[in-house]
Amino acid sequence: MTFPIHALTRRFVSLLLVFCLGSPALADQDFKLAHEEITHGVHALIGPTGARSYENHGLNANFGVIDTTDGAVLIDSGASQQGARLLEAEASRLTGKPVRWVINTGAQDHRWLGNGHFRDRGVQIIAHTLTAATQQRNARAQLDSLRPVLKERLDGTEAVTADRLLEGAHTRLTLGGRQIEIRYFADAHFPGDVVVWLPEERILFAGDHVYVDRLLGILPQSNAETWLAAFEALAALGPQRIVPGHGSVSDLARARADTGDYLAFIVNGVRPLAGDMVGVDEAVAQLGDATQFARLANYGELHRGNVSRAYLRLEAAQ
Ligand SMILES: [Zn+2]
Repeated sequence: MTFPIHALTRRFVSLLLVFCLGSPALADQDFKLAHEEITHGVHALIGPTGARSYENHGLNANFGVIDTTDGAVLIDSGASQQGARLLEAEASRLTGKPVRWVINTGAQDHRWLGNGHFRDRGVQIIAHTLTAATQQRNARAQLDSLRPVLKERLDGTEAVTADRLLEGAHTRLTLGGRQIEIRYFADAHFPGDVVVWLPEERILFAGDHVYVDRLLGILPQSNAETWLAAFEALAALGPQRIVPGHGSVSDLARARADTGDYLAFIVNGVRPLAGDMVGVDEAVAQLGDATQFARLANYGELHRGNVSRAYLRLEAAQ
């Protein structure tokens, strides 16, 4: 009976490897988010501005880590259980403390599909009721479209919404001695998008309200008109530093150049055309070239689609 012994030996060796190296799934991970400490104990984790990929775990977005006396606050939980573990490891490395709270700023996959990992760890997950409702509506479609990208790296990922739900436009939290505000202005990239505002440091984690370096995407769920209004509302906070949802940490002028001005171009361009019901093809013909924004990554792939989706929503509202 040599075969079972061999099998047992192999099993023992692989268990030993797991024990020594951590789980095999984590052992081959070489993906790393860029890091910037904005002020003492407030960190941005900067993901690539390109597409979701197996290699980047769907972490093609920015995340935040705030150090407090009682543990770390993680802003957004990643697109999968494995992505959540990467973010957790980064947060603990930066603060020397466990993650105690997760805040979701939005309903796109990489903002929240890592929640299940943190729920299993007893971490409190905080979100606005409007954000959680959009997450629930989109969960199935998001998991289905991540599967061919993340493959087995999506295994174990569950769509879990927050256990601490916030209502209203403005919530002041004190987490481990830090003043942290959650503001909901209007539906933006997704319905229920919020920002995290640190009033003492004047730092804004803008979530998908702000894209820098790359063109924002107007999706079927996006509302360009109210997104523009939300942008003006966040600008009125007077942030000193902005961690955008995508792209480099910036100031308000840069956020306005890359996001606010583009939204204004779309809304001011599309609104009269929708009023005249010129049709989507005509709207794209008139607004499809916006070379002043061609410097932004993804312009070629996204701009014309953005015009057409903004037009269709505004025309439907006539
Ligand atoms: Zn995003």
